[in-house]
Amino acid sequence: MAQNKKQKILKQQRHLQPLRWRIFLYLLGFTALLLLLLWLFQTVYLDSFYRRVKISEITGAASAIAHNIDNENILTTLDRLAAEREMCIQIFNLSVMGDSERQEEIAGYDADVLPDCLIHHLSLIEVSRLYNSALEAGGPYTEVINGNDLHGRIIENGFFIIRRPGAGPGESMVLSQVFNGVNGDEFLLLLDSKLQPVNATVHTLRVQLTFITALMVVTALLLSFFIAWRLAAPITRINIRAKRLAAGDFSASFDGQGYREIGELAETLNYAAGELSRTERLQRELVANISHDLRTPLTMISGYAEVMRDLPQENNAENAQVIIDEARRLSSLVNEVLDLSKLQSGVEILKIEDFDIGELLEILVENYRRLLAAEGYNISLESCGEAWVHADKKRIEQVLCNFLNNAFTYTGADKQVSVRQIISAQKVRIEVADSGQGIAPEHINEIWQRYYRLEGAHKRAAHGAGIGLSIARQVLEQHKADYGVESKEGLGSIFWFELALI
Ligand code: ADP
Repeated sequence: MAQNKKQKILKQQRHLQPLRWRIFLYLLGFTALLLLLLWLFQTVYLDSFYRRVKISEITGAASAIAHNIDNENILTTLDRLAAEREMCIQIFNLSVMGDSERQEEIAGYDADVLPDCLIHHLSLIEVSRLYNSALEAGGPYTEVINGNDLHGRIIENGFFIIRRPGAGPGESMVLSQVFNGVNGDEFLLLLDSKLQPVNATVHTLRVQLTFITALMVVTALLLSFFIAWRLAAPITRINIRAKRLAAGDFSASFDGQGYREIGELAETLNYAAGELSRTERLQRELVANISHDLRTPLTMISGYAEVMRDLPQENNAENAQVIIDEARRLSSLVNEVLDLSKLQSGVEILKIEDFDIGELLEILVENYRRLLAAEGYNISLESCGEAWVHADKKRIEQVLCNFLNNAFTYTGADKQVSVRQIISAQKVRIEVADSGQGIAPEHINEIWQRYYRLEGAHKRAAHGAGIGLSIARQVLEQHKADYGVESKEGLGSIFWFELALI
């Protein structure tokens, strides 16, 4: 069955891609995306990208000029802008130009810093067209003008425009903007920045990108193999050890050097391996304990029965009682094992009711007193009366019996066991204390585990398969009750639990 399942899983896994390929494909995909973006931006969209940058540069300059036109340092600003951004600037104060009385005033500004500047070679008709376009745009108006197109162009009103010498070929980004100064003067601003042809650059970039593409594909290939190898190596190692663990080799230890996640996985597996080996050990011990515990009463029963059969004078009530007691011991052991498995599988649901735990304690202690007085055991009870709780009475009684049975089994030579009931902060706390050897701190958490029994501590008691405390833990956890043990070696132990009062 298990073999079949394993083969089925292996078959399913064969369809899955190995980690190396996954990483390789992701890296390759990422590289392809990067290259695509590079190709698009460096070649296909380079021209429009370049023009956009130019437009934003030139409109930025225009807005700086418009804002500072009345500033006394305007000439310095203009010179700086022209030099830094390699632009030609022309400003006309239209109000002064049309006014004969203001002829003395400065009619404009002119920075002709480029050798083939276009705006300084425009005819008046072109200038007025740009003026109208700017008025229409209501802000900065930009246009790409080719120096060649100015040559011999006929425009609507019949004038034949001849390009003035000096305007070089090639395209320029031209901006026109109309704005007013503080005193209401109307200005026309013309800006011109040369557009460098990008075709030659694109060609160079294509050659360069071809090399980069080849290089990046090779690098992605190498890198993905390297990363996949680095990542997969510890996982493969863990996998090999996990297979050994599955085969029952609990000595397999996992190391997850390199990455936090793999380290955590290795730690979890180490923990699981430790737990598995412990459970296996405990289970082996349980079989040994239970067979010992079963064998003793069975030997007694068969021994006594044989004696009673063969020797008529031994056929008396006393011997029959021994057989009955041993048979009870057997059935209580079997019941405990069954109880625990029922509790752990969750088959059994708690039968919650309201009851007085103080009264339950009194009855229990009284029963134990009667039962054990002959053997010299002394049991004291400190009770503070009624204490009503909302719980499964039968199960809580079982917890108390397990604590009490252990206390009687492990108590000291004085055979003293004390039971205390303490009420505080809406809770009732029950303590069962003995005067025995106590429990060493390193074992204190383990005693609640199933089948756990301190080595050498196994005295033959009424119970004793290392299950009692495990049942108590299950019951108390189902009740969401706090519980624990306070114990010092040589000074006895106090087992306790707390339930909410109603
Ligand atoms: P057992 O049936 O062996 O008593 P339990 O689950 O009740 O199993 O207890 C588990 C182990 O815890 C015991 O084997 C014993 O070593 C330890 N233990 C329990 N109660 C006491 C106690 N009162 N004093 C010392 N050791 C105890």
